[in-house]
Amino acid sequence: MDNCYLCGNEFDTDKVLRHDEHILQQAIGGVLSNKNILCLTCGESLGRDVDVPFNEIFHSIATRLDIKKDRKSNKKSAIKGTLVSQSDRFGLDLSGTEIIWKDFKVTPVVPMHRYSNDNSKVIIYANKKQAKKYLKKVEIEVETKFKDNKPKFIFCDDIDGSVLYQFKLDNDAFKKGLAKIAVGFASSIGISRHEMPLALKVKPDNRAEIKSDIKLLQYFPLGELDSYLESQSSEIGYFPTHTLIIFTAASEPSKLVCYIELFSTFQWYVILNDNYQGDAVYEYHYQRLLKTEDYLFEPGRHYYKERSHTLAYLGVSKERIQNAYEKQQDSKDAKTIESVEIEIVKEEYIKKKYRVEFEQEIERGLNVMTTNIIKQGLNSFKNPMDLKMNVDLFYDFQGDDEIFNISSYKRCYTQDFQNRDYILSLMDSFQSLSDSGKLQKYSHSKFNKLSEFIEVEGIKKKLA
Ligand SMILES: [Zn+2]
Repeated sequence: MDNCYLCGNEFDTDKVLRHDEHILQQAIGGVLSNKNILCLTCGESLGRDVDVPFNEIFHSIATRLDIKKDRKSNKKSAIKGTLVSQSDRFGLDLSGTEIIWKDFKVTPVVPMHRYSNDNSKVIIYANKKQAKKYLKKVEIEVETKFKDNKPKFIFCDDIDGSVLYQFKLDNDAFKKGLAKIAVGFASSIGISRHEMPLALKVKPDNRAEIKSDIKLLQYFPLGELDSYLESQSSEIGYFPTHTLIIFTAASEPSKLVCYIELFSTFQWYVILNDNYQGDAVYEYHYQRLLKTEDYLFEPGRHYYKERSHTLAYLGVSKERIQNAYEKQQDSKDAKTIESVEIEIVKEEYIKKKYRVEFEQEIERGLNVMTTNIIKQGLNSFKNPMDLKMNVDLFYDFQGDDEIFNISSYKRCYTQDFQNRDYILSLMDSFQSLSDSGKLQKYSHSKFNKLSEFIEVEGIKKKLA
């Protein structure tokens, strides 16, 4: 598109410059960016007003996962939390202690010491800096308290055990952040700024604003297939990941929706339009958060030899390269047509890899489940026919061939022999899911899975 979705102005090379917008915030590990949706001025102002408070919500997760691009800021980051385990490696109950997480180590906010149950040891919990000064205090105490059989001093600058980190879904910042992701992703696939009125309000002066009173639906797995896939997500596929899907509801194509899943954990639908007039759509972005070295594309001699083959494989036309080149050739830091091409190829290469991974991951999930059905026998499932029909939603049958088709994922499911749209069912059942506590229980289990994963990763880092 050639207009900024926020101010509505057409891009040029002078006043309305293109902004390299991260549709998924870089601070939470997002890699999806686009240069055709926001101008520099608007991109920077949304960054300050929407992204900064949104990123703050996920700060503790992003930092402990060590996914930030700017590693220096990671080192400095300290996160507060509260110990919840009832026993550390010395058998002492430190639960309720306020702690600080820094550089993968957990120490108390205020240095402290505890005697082991048999008084044979005194353990000093403090970081290295605090420990020296604090030791003197403990030495005096030990001198006065014990005549002989003095306890042995032990230093601990990394408390083990579970920690509850502060995590608040601050409403306005959270909703605006989700709205911005949805609007950005919809714009990047060519949906007009006027087609998402429930998240982006275009005012009479043609300027728009990201709304905070958006229509949000929390995801909950309905039907047996999806509850299975969700419960297995960290075992079957890559974990954690971010997923965005723009789609129109299957039974009501006038509903335009963006599904947002962050860290494989926070899952929401943002309704963009109740009265969408465009064509039916299903487009996604999916990405891993850790270890993506194998996604690097280096244009060597090899590339130029197989250039036309690669371009065809990635679906990049020569016109697209030419257009992208012309769009920027008058700007100050104009690039050569070769480097414009490499940029596009790099971008498409990553997209292609993610696409393959995403679809393989879902298909793998289906296969694992099918194997389990055969192993356990159909009778161990509540509604075996429903299960089969839910699996069939993912295949197009062409004669004897079954062709995998992703486009029902997070969009529809089958229950009682009927195809249903997720968002319509969730709208109907939201109240009962919430009143029965099922929704809360589900989101807690998701959050716990992520916390467990981060703990384990943290231990691996320390051992490395
Ligand atoms: Zn603008």
